[in-house]
Amino acid sequence: HDGPIETDAVIVGAGPVGLFQVFELGLLEIKAHVIDSLAYPGGQCVELYPDKPIYDIPAVPVCTGQELTDNLLKQIEPFGATFHFGQEVSKVERQEDGRFYVETSKGTRFLTKTIFIAAGVGAFQPKQLKVEGLAQYEGTQFHYRVKNPADFAGKNLVVVGGGDSALDWALNFCAGNADGNPHKAESVILIHRRDGFRAAPASVAKMREMCDALEMQFIVGQITGIEEKDGKLAGAKVTGGDGVTRVVPMDALLVFFGLSPKLGPIADWGLDIERKQLKVDTEKFATNVPGIFAVGDINTYPGKKKLILSGFHECALAAFGAAPFIFPDKKIHLQYTTTSPKLHKVLGVE
Ligand code: FAD
Repeated sequence: HDGPIETDAVIVGAGPVGLFQVFELGLLEIKAHVIDSLAYPGGQCVELYPDKPIYDIPAVPVCTGQELTDNLLKQIEPFGATFHFGQEVSKVERQEDGRFYVETSKGTRFLTKTIFIAAGVGAFQPKQLKVEGLAQYEGTQFHYRVKNPADFAGKNLVVVGGGDSALDWALNFCAGNADGNPHKAESVILIHRRDGFRAAPASVAKMREMCDALEMQFIVGQITGIEEKDGKLAGAKVTGGDGVTRVVPMDALLVFFGLSPKLGPIADWGLDIERKQLKVDTEKFATNVPGIFAVGDINTYPGKKKLILSGFHECALAAFGAAPFIFPDKKIHLQYTTTSPKLHKVLGVE
């Protein structure tokens, strides 16, 4: 087994603020590892409003959530941060040597001198379908995400939800893909609580086409119970708009209710928390634990405004606040990116 990754800085969260933290650390020649529970960077900007325009980023009159993220990624490229997506930071423990041991839900481990918590409103996690007895099948016959589409080939599938993920996957497992879909399910039944969808209109039209062609079925209703047989999930009890409950037989259940943020394990790291926010000072954006900083929507201080531009400012001061933990003997001076040969070197623009 490889040992933990040794590093100067770990950033928890790849939202806009976590991404800009990479930049501010990079200028001070501090390399960072960035972790996010989502499979991609951008935080709320990408998860909640990728196509909506933002008008209050200084000197950027308008850009969408996705464009802001893409530009931040481009801006931080010179600093070669390492990204660890699809995993939640679950554990943070101080070691005897003063460093922190950090562990993720996927078992990635770090030993780091500093931590920057840029966790926003929390780790985005799938919204759950709560039905008695269902939880025990999670990971076998019941899933909130598709890891390996081949697992569902030839199965009788029930897909629940009305957004893009639900429709995309329902269509994906359905017949009709050109040149033989390798992951074609035996049958696909889509269930949504109403006959109206958040998904892209083109996907909805395609779904209706497939239903007309009897390649898939759509049922309006909600899953209110399960049927088990020989220790396996055998069917879903679906209560329709008419109030009648019917049993839908199946081999596997896929639920796509979207994602919602959860503060989660951050609450257990010994940090001062006030109404789900980490208390920091406004000089260094340091938490009560020396070496752990908090920036962006996750922090609170008198006058805090949850704005991206505030988060960016916090990153700069947190980076200077952290430098003594990494370079105890070095005096850090403020330099301008315009004129500093040293900064040109770290930016790769000599
Ligand atoms: P987030 O964007 O929330 O990112 C945090 C990331 O951390 C997430 O990706 C999350 O998955 C991850 N994370 C959390 N906990 C963990 C963990 N334990 N392990 C791993 N990963 C974790 N702001 C503006 O300034 N201007 C606007 O016009 C504007 N419009 C908005 C419109 C909408 C609809 C919404 C919802 C917000 C808007 N905001 C706007 C607010 C802005 O999006 C937030 O201030 C900003 O996203 C905060 O960035 P952040 O990086 O601090 O957190």
